[in-house]
Amino acid sequence: MRTRKLKLPYNRQLDIINAGTGSVWVECLRLKDTWDYAHGYRTGGRLDKSCELWMDKELSKSQPLHSQSIQEVRSRYFKNRKGFRELRKNGHNKAKPPYRDKTFQTTTWKKSAIRFIGKRQLRLSNGKGNEPLYVNLPKNFDVQYAIAHIAIVELVYNKGQYSLHFVYGVAKALKSDSEGVVGVDIGEIHPIVSHNGVDTLIFNGRYIRSLYRLRNKVIASFGKKIDRCKRHSKRWWHLVRRKWKRIRKIDNQIRDGLHKHTTEFVKHCEERNIGIVVIGDLTGIRDSINYSKRANQKLHQWAFGKVTQLISYKAKALGIKVEVIDESYTSQTCPRCGNKHKPSNREYKCKCGFVYHRDGVGAVNIRQKYLGKFGELLNYQLSVPIGMRLQTKTP
Ligand SMILES: [Zn+2]
Repeated sequence: MRTRKLKLPYNRQLDIINAGTGSVWVECLRLKDTWDYAHGYRTGGRLDKSCELWMDKELSKSQPLHSQSIQEVRSRYFKNRKGFRELRKNGHNKAKPPYRDKTFQTTTWKKSAIRFIGKRQLRLSNGKGNEPLYVNLPKNFDVQYAIAHIAIVELVYNKGQYSLHFVYGVAKALKSDSEGVVGVDIGEIHPIVSHNGVDTLIFNGRYIRSLYRLRNKVIASFGKKIDRCKRHSKRWWHLVRRKWKRIRKIDNQIRDGLHKHTTEFVKHCEERNIGIVVIGDLTGIRDSINYSKRANQKLHQWAFGKVTQLISYKAKALGIKVEVIDESYTSQTCPRCGNKHKPSNREYKCKCGFVYHRDGVGAVNIRQKYLGKFGELLNYQLSVPIGMRLQTKTP
């Protein structure tokens, strides 16, 4: 998407339009309350879908806006909710669903509400019976191009200035499904293990794990010293500050490592003409491992959420689609014979004689699952996994 911005001189009509959009937003919030009251405050994507259908009929549509502009607010609201659910799923426990009333909101016009009159004027429809918004276009405005490429127009208010954003649909088109699919297993030991039907890549997690260990050691050793001091004493404060300084530094190193891994991974996807990255959903698997400490597990979960998030935005920027699918049984099922059993060590060994890297099996199966072939026998030979290591100094 490419956006072109055009500053608008203030006039009251602009306030009225964005206030109308704000009212639609507030209406969405109130309707959701009504729905929740009737349905018992449950959450979940499927419920949201039926709520959205219901809300579409219930919205009063009394605002001076084009019907598609109103629909856009509703779909924006549910998109926000979806984003919130994904954040929660990825371990951001403080994320909140949209709940705040807004007096003004950005208004969006879709294609059918946008019309160019001659070369110098734009007409944005606000629905039957309401005054449209007329905008004079500057001399250098390329109307021909706009007609061919326009996707939406937005009325944005920012720090005292109204502007129109012309959003053109010249983004890199999403690659088609016929292009490569890569399955990703976010493992306990390695941050990323991927399989694209040809190669299996293992992004080595040793460096990041050593940072986890270091972090725990720092917490433990400072904890002992801090416990020996009087709370809030000068020395106590000194140690607490030093402890957090160390931890901040380690956390930055972990984050940096995850950034390097995910960048490398996405680069690889682009080179191999991958169209879809399929990530196994992590929510179900954490119980299978026995971490000695709770804190440790939390840290791991944080990292997994982070990896998913980093891959998602980096891949999307390259026009690569990202899908998250349920990964149950993908680490246990033998790709050669379909037998299920839990691997006990780093190597997956099956009765049928199949032996492969454990997380590699997960990535293979996640890919198969996305392609609708999970449980079917693999019709190609798996190659030896390729190790990917970070170029970093050991901490
Ligand atoms: Zn087998």
